[in-house]
Amino acid sequence: MKKVVIIGGVAGGASAAARIRRLDEQAEIVMFEKGPHVSFSNCSLPFYLSGVVADSKKLLMMTPDSFEAKHNIDARINSEVIAINRADKMVTVKNTVTGERTTESYDQLVLSPGASPIVPKLPGNDLPHVFTVRNVVDIERLHNAIVENDAQNIAVIGGGFIGVEVAENLRLAGRNVSLVEFAPQILTPFDDDMAQILHKEMVDQGVELIVGDGLAEITPNLIKLNSGKEVAADIVVLAIGVRPETTLATEAGLEIGEKGAIKVNQNYQTSDPNIYAVGDAIEVYHRLMNKQTRLALAGPAQRQARAVADHMYGIPVLNKGVIGSSSIQVFDYAAASTGLNERTAKEMGLLVEAVYIIAPDKVGLMPSSNPLHFKLVYELPTGRIVGAQAIGKGNADKRIDVIATLITMNGTIEDLKELELSYSPMFSTAKDVVNLAALVATNLMAGRFKQVRVNDVRRLVEEDAFIVDVREANEFAQGALKGAVNIPLSELRERMEEIPTDVPVYVHCRSSQRSYNAVMALNNSGYTNVANISGSFLGISLY
Ligand code: FAD
Repeated sequence: MKKVVIIGGVAGGASAAARIRRLDEQAEIVMFEKGPHVSFSNCSLPFYLSGVVADSKKLLMMTPDSFEAKHNIDARINSEVIAINRADKMVTVKNTVTGERTTESYDQLVLSPGASPIVPKLPGNDLPHVFTVRNVVDIERLHNAIVENDAQNIAVIGGGFIGVEVAENLRLAGRNVSLVEFAPQILTPFDDDMAQILHKEMVDQGVELIVGDGLAEITPNLIKLNSGKEVAADIVVLAIGVRPETTLATEAGLEIGEKGAIKVNQNYQTSDPNIYAVGDAIEVYHRLMNKQTRLALAGPAQRQARAVADHMYGIPVLNKGVIGSSSIQVFDYAAASTGLNERTAKEMGLLVEAVYIIAPDKVGLMPSSNPLHFKLVYELPTGRIVGAQAIGKGNADKRIDVIATLITMNGTIEDLKELELSYSPMFSTAKDVVNLAALVATNLMAGRFKQVRVNDVRRLVEEDAFIVDVREANEFAQGALKGAVNIPLSELRERMEEIPTDVPVYVHCRSSQRSYNAVMALNNSGYTNVANISGSFLGISLY
């Protein structure tokens, strides 16, 4: 009978335990968790702050008793593994309540200790009103501190997924929330043109968004930023990133990789073949970057856990590496991304092009139809898709999941153009946004039209470039680019002589679709230097 010991009882650890049991009814499975809870929904923690999750107990999906009853798994809470003796295949466990120490033998060991929030070394970082968010205890503590002190002003430091979700949920709870991000934008999986949509939404919903500034000091009632700015803060939440939990592995002499996380092979075995590691604590292979990376997400952790169990029982698993797919709700918007964004792809030296379209997510007649901002990044000259980002009030995640699938299958813009997706007016359009993006991309690649990007528009305006706005006159009257000439698409053919042939011409509308038709009409009428402004007025107005 095999004996498996697992360190960490949440995403990776609990998944590994459950799969091992499904493969082997006889195995002895002992799972140690240093905290008071196993198998909780980390990803739902922020939603307790707004009341979307009404009771923190609901965050707990399993208990030691239910593990025992349903799966015959010995889950031990308040049990921190403090040492691994590889020679004797033993772990030392400390009871975090009583301090008592015991040992436990193993045949195989699985490490899934996760990652811990980074706390910057700054004055005031240990004050009682400073919090991090990692587990149920953390979120209950934060929630109670806010409610008991009726804290009104809350500063969230860090504009990654956790920071944004915490800020949003606190705002929904009626608090004054400031979100501080050191980088020029929040949520770095998105390119800056896409992030502007999310910035606007945060601000529109009443969050004080401060980007390009860092935390310098925390005092009891305010935070001071690098710029000298002061922000009122009765509570401070630090969400500036996580550090992989490698202490135990390091002390046991296991190899740590170049990214500072536990090094594993394709079967998630550490440098000791009897010890596996999964989740936030390990390095993974990024198949688009062709290098090791860290990816602190629940889906990969659970897949790795299953692969570990399968490998233990001789079931072959092909490790395809990761591409990095994620999604997040930002108030009324859903935002999702997969693969590489344009910025990262270019930094890596990949030759890529990107198209940015804004198309209805459903047939316009439907009550809940909304524009979906969609950006597709593909390699030149192969057309291989390497990434996508989608933001809108509808199903951005569905579109990104289609692209994630294609990336995994090495799909190209031609494949996406021909991809047959389901359609009904309530769900999409007959040519879905993703198909449309592929049509634009294939036209662009074939040289059938040219484009410039929304972030070039400021320069074009300053240079007095010839910009044609093909929206209707009433739309133009409500706001337009300085110096733009209004020739609605419906009048273009009669008024074409107003457009010069000897200078570059830039065309935009609201969402790039009418302007694309105008560009093609001009191209087919002898114009040779016409470009569509990708992103058009909806994109421009965010800058
Ligand atoms: P964890 O699930 O964190 O489990 C590790 C456990 O190991 C911890 O409970 C820890 O106490 C325990 N442990 C550590 N050391 C020891 C030891 N020595 N002895 C015993 N026990 C130990 N991912 C997504 O994909 N989508 C999301 O929307 C999302 N939202 C998130 C929101 C929040 C607020 C947080 C915190 C994370 C979120 N994540 C999300 C990330 C996701 O939760 C993690 O990637 C995933 O939980 C990693 O699994 P893991 O098993 O490696 O670590």
